[in-house]
Amino acid sequence: MILDGKGLADRRLELLKKEISERGVTPTLATVLVGDDPASAMYVRMKHRACDQVGIRSVNVELPEGATTSEVLDRLKMLNEDPEIDGILVQLPLPSQIDTPQVINAVYPEKDVDGYHPQNMGKLVGGLPGPRSCTPKGIMTILNEYGVQTSGAHAVVIGRSVDVGRPMALLLMLADATVTICHSKTRDLAAITRQADILVSAAGRPTMVTADMVKPGATVIDVGTNHVNGKLCGDVDFQAVSSVAGAITPVPGGVGPMTIVSLMENTLEAALSRCRPAQ
Ligand code: NAP
Repeated sequence: MILDGKGLADRRLELLKKEISERGVTPTLATVLVGDDPASAMYVRMKHRACDQVGIRSVNVELPEGATTSEVLDRLKMLNEDPEIDGILVQLPLPSQIDTPQVINAVYPEKDVDGYHPQNMGKLVGGLPGPRSCTPKGIMTILNEYGVQTSGAHAVVIGRSVDVGRPMALLLMLADATVTICHSKTRDLAAITRQADILVSAAGRPTMVTADMVKPGATVIDVGTNHVNGKLCGDVDFQAVSSVAGAITPVPGGVGPMTIVSLMENTLEAALSRCRPAQ
């Protein structure tokens, strides 16, 4: 079975548009783009397009490639204090001279629609409500929508990054999976991945996951977005693995579109939380 993230995303965006209109709110998302990396610029454009589609107002703050950490922090301060802004997304990666952790920490947790702020990460660790990182959240939506059982399943996550691998492992654990996290120092990766009922690959290594690494019938989620000879491909050797797996996400058209849906959902949730009276 192909897990069609694109089709699911289109349906979720339609529902979100309806919900935003029925609630009579206009959430506002601010994106912060530093430098002139074409891939980052493209991702930001896609996010703005999705905002237009669902009725979220969006503004883009652009800073030059040579911007300093304090210049980025100044802009974030303005966005944090602007009552019109519900959510702030800083497009990563930032140019190397910028202190990325400091920038992430500077976004007000209630406007952190990426779920990267340490306070929101802490909420995830504690199993408390809060914005979840967009890509892992989108993957959980795919698993739920396609009825992939997580409870009791052995989930193996390749990758331990703060934006994907770690929050993914935590969300799977909160969904009652037994989770193994693998990374570049893992010994005999294939022996571990072959045990997975659910295999999530977020390594950023083209076609690293081959058919012999996958248990027959497993659900395979490919997070990788790698550009090879001008073509987008995932971490998974799709042709070969799809003949072994029970279900698999394609690249493109799998996880990517669902990441954007999660961002839209988090922005609406941030706007609604700000409307609610403090408890
Ligand atoms: P990252 O920060 O570079 O992390 C990669 C992780 O994979 C690290 O934990 C690394 O281990 C591990 N790894 C690398 N090579 C490995 C190998 N040969 N065997 C086992 N583990 C290995 O990347 P990221 O931000 O998590 O992103 C991962 C991929 O997902 C990238 O291709 C990225 O473009 C893509 N992505 C896609 C979306 C989407 O919406 N589709 C969103 C975010 C990211 P160490 O920790 O030991 O270095």
